Amino acid sequence: MTRRGDLPPAGPRPRRDSAGDVLRAVLDHGPIARSSVARATRLSAASVSGVVTSLLDRGLVREVPEAAGPPGMGRPHVPLDIEADRVAVIGVHIAVPHTTVALLDLRGQIITQRRDPHSAHDPASVLATLAARIASLRRTRRRILGVGVATGGWVDTANGTVVDHPLLGWRDVPVGTALAEATGLPTRVDSNSRALLRAEQLFGVAARRARESAVHLFVGNVVDVAFATDGTIHHGPRSAAGAVAHLPVEGHAEVCACGRAGCLQAAVSERTLVRRALADRLIDRPDLAALIAAAAAGQPGAVALFTERARLVGRATALLLDLFDPEVLVVSEAGTNRLPGCLATLRAEATEWSSGSADVTATVRASSFGRNVLAMSGGAVALDHVFAAPLTPVP
Ligand SMILES: [Zn+2]
Repeated sequence: MTRRGDLPPAGPRPRRDSAGDVLRAVLDHGPIARSSVARATRLSAASVSGVVTSLLDRGLVREVPEAAGPPGMGRPHVPLDIEADRVAVIGVHIAVPHTTVALLDLRGQIITQRRDPHSAHDPASVLATLAARIASLRRTRRRILGVGVATGGWVDTANGTVVDHPLLGWRDVPVGTALAEATGLPTRVDSNSRALLRAEQLFGVAARRARESAVHLFVGNVVDVAFATDGTIHHGPRSAAGAVAHLPVEGHAEVCACGRAGCLQAAVSERTLVRRALADRLIDRPDLAALIAAAAAGQPGAVALFTERARLVGRATALLLDLFDPEVLVVSEAGTNRLPGCLATLRAEATEWSSGSADVTATVRASSFGRNVLAMSGGAVALDHVFAAPLTPVP
């Protein structure tokens, strides 16, 4: 098994990219005139003009003729907007029970997505299925800019490798290289939480605040965390930051994959929830969606399971609030995102257990992406690169 110390450190942080600055300004403020882009980015009018010509050539922005100023004003006053129709990215999420593959536009809108249960869990089978799904999504008139893959566990972003995903049983799987070779598309890989944090910074309800400082807590079968300051997401020298799966949870006896009892991930994971629901005959098949539907219909046992989970996640949230004091803390958890009352329960518990310095209601939010979090997480890995360096040549 690869240990953290065996891996080379991640590369240096990329320099600021003026094309990325322009594209993000158009995303945030479009339709917007070139002169306003120059003000927003603090670039010269000439720099903006040159970059915009290249972005128009690539089909990443478009001019909005209907909003043009009076005749004779000239092209610099024709507003620019994100090109939402000509290009797309493919987002892939690898979960413990299934994969999600989606097509997204440059605004992070999901054009189409599909979910497939794994027929086998070994990397070769899963990656072959993914390559086939990606091939079918390419039958679109849109130009595909790249593929983004998100999954849980320890993900080495620089090398595109899933270093360790204990619940899938994957070790050192070169997901990025394998999918790039199979599809011919540039492919990037990142962790669930880092991907969803980036999605919040680009497209989220509180995007502006999330760019100041933010924490993202992902709770599915896997539990992981990402944090960012000054717009930059921390990966750590081995790309291993954010591992909170084995945070001790008081008074919980669930035995974890690590062999100990009382780890956060074991206590709140979807498989634990589904197993308990099956044992209590709240559902008749191992399906989280069925349990959510039962809770949404007010089935008391199902509601109780999600309420208990929200309390445990609320305690972890309290710790993260005290540790990072972030501008926003986003929770991606099925109950919090989709059931009434869970977010309030989570916030109440976070208030109870935190030191009290944070305004919990203002800081703690549910994901901006509701039932689309998995499709968005993969898509955000690809879109992150598009918005960071949109004119980088495609290899
Ligand atoms: Zn554990």
